[in-house]
Amino acid sequence: AKAAGKKRWRLFHPEFHSKLVARHELQAGMDTAIADHAFALRYQPIVEVRDGAPAGLEALIRWPHARRGMVPPDQFIALAEESGHIMPLGAWVLEHAALDIARWQRARPQRAPLYASVNVSARQFRDPGFLEGVRRALRSSGLAPGSLVLELTETVLMRRDAQIRTTMAALKELGVSIAIDDFGTGFSSLSYLREFPIDVLKVDKSFIDNITTDPQQVALVEGIVRIADVLGLQVVAEGIEHEEQRALLAEMGCRYGQGYLFARPMTAHQAESYLHRSAPA
Ligand code: C2E
Ligand code: CA
Ligand code: CA
Ligand code: CA
Repeated sequence: AKAAGKKRWRLFHPEFHSKLVARHELQAGMDTAIADHAFALRYQPIVEVRDGAPAGLEALIRWPHARRGMVPPDQFIALAEESGHIMPLGAWVLEHAALDIARWQRARPQRAPLYASVNVSARQFRDPGFLEGVRRALRSSGLAPGSLVLELTETVLMRRDAQIRTTMAALKELGVSIAIDDFGTGFSSLSYLREFPIDVLKVDKSFIDNITTDPQQVALVEGIVRIADVLGLQVVAEGIEHEEQRALLAEMGCRYGQGYLFARPMTAHQAESYLHRSAPA
């Protein structure tokens, strides 16, 4: 009875209540927002750790909300997954990112093509319409399949079912690359590398945070870099904020990185001038 009392108290706790209200408001607004294309993308470069040259750009979604300001994805992606809104939302992200990146590629034809890195959530990846959405985004933008990377978290791979294998195989066949996002935070990361056709490991920020002070972190990241080398995978270190981290990662042979040190997520407009600035003299 005591436990039940505690629980009831929790339900009416003001902070919990306001979270419920926010959740309900966002959930209710999503239909209209999707119909109105009322979402926005930010782009954060993935760069060569050695010299900061951009190799690709990750698309990161935002929701400019009338009452709540710029709502970050952590506050609505999970809701969109629950409600199924993630399917049209994810398709929109793919199409827009493909269009923007294809345009930026055309603006710098003399350089190695930038790739688009797009986050895909578990339910979206499992949806039977997903593959066709990828094909459509490539077709309508003219982006080459080799210029698209899909970032999956381990929650996608955890299921190990036939549907996921089939979709992965079809993506490979198409020439689209697959990255494991937040690598190292799951339970059995290493086994996925044998089981699935992975191309890129994005080492989670939590491994990079203390890399300049914690020898254990250094050993872990070094281990990941070495395994990736053996398996022919690319490594991207996430969340690089300080020059000391960059220098250490470069020394460890980690080729790619991402983080505030190089650039924050930018509007398409800002990304354009960033790319212009980063062009060689
Ligand atoms: P993520 O894919 O791990 O993306 C990295 C997050 O870390 C981004 O937050 C980015 O802004 C932030 N970040 C990048 N560099 C630094 C750094 O140096 N320091 C710090 N402190 N943070 C850094 P954001 O944009 O709020 O996105 C949060 C998460 O939302 C993403 O994590 C991703 O899981 C999800 N997400 C974003 N866009 C999409 C999308 O279009 N579809 C899906 N399904 N999920 C998305
Ligand atoms: Ca990501
Ligand atoms: Ca990540
Ligand atoms: Ca993350």
